[in-house]
Amino acid sequence: MDNLRELYQHVIVDHNKNPRNFHIMDHPSHQAEGFNPLCGDKVQVYLLIDANNLITDVSFQGNGCAISMASASLMTEALKGKAIQEADMFFENFHDLITSDKNIDVASLGKLAVLSGVKEYPTRVKCATLAWHTVHAAMHNNSNKVSTE
Ligand code: ZN
Repeated sequence: MDNLRELYQHVIVDHNKNPRNFHIMDHPSHQAEGFNPLCGDKVQVYLLIDANNLITDVSFQGNGCAISMASASLMTEALKGKAIQEADMFFENFHDLITSDKNIDVASLGKLAVLSGVKEYPTRVKCATLAWHTVHAAMHNNSNKVSTE
């Protein structure tokens, strides 16, 4: 397990230092911002969703702890090219992975599996899910401001 843990740590550090898709989008079709007052994490997400409900582009900006930034970065990679329904399912599985003992198909989550260790630190769950809640709000236009509290 130690090697796996080191690998996971390495991916989180890498995505925190060099976040992917870290920029403001010029003409997003959907956007929202999220805030996690417990930790101070802030994130803005931008989506380009086409007429077939496919996420053709996704980017983010923000600042916060390593977990929140790595999760947002990994999320942008995971969601590009997915349909909205697939993105919702993905978030559900990811949420279950870090909050429940349900038997999740970890392989289906790809690199997001590196955040599975967050389950042992309940206060960090909100850091790991902030970008996801924000994307959910953006996709479904519930609201364009999200707070984890
Ligand atoms: Zn945080």
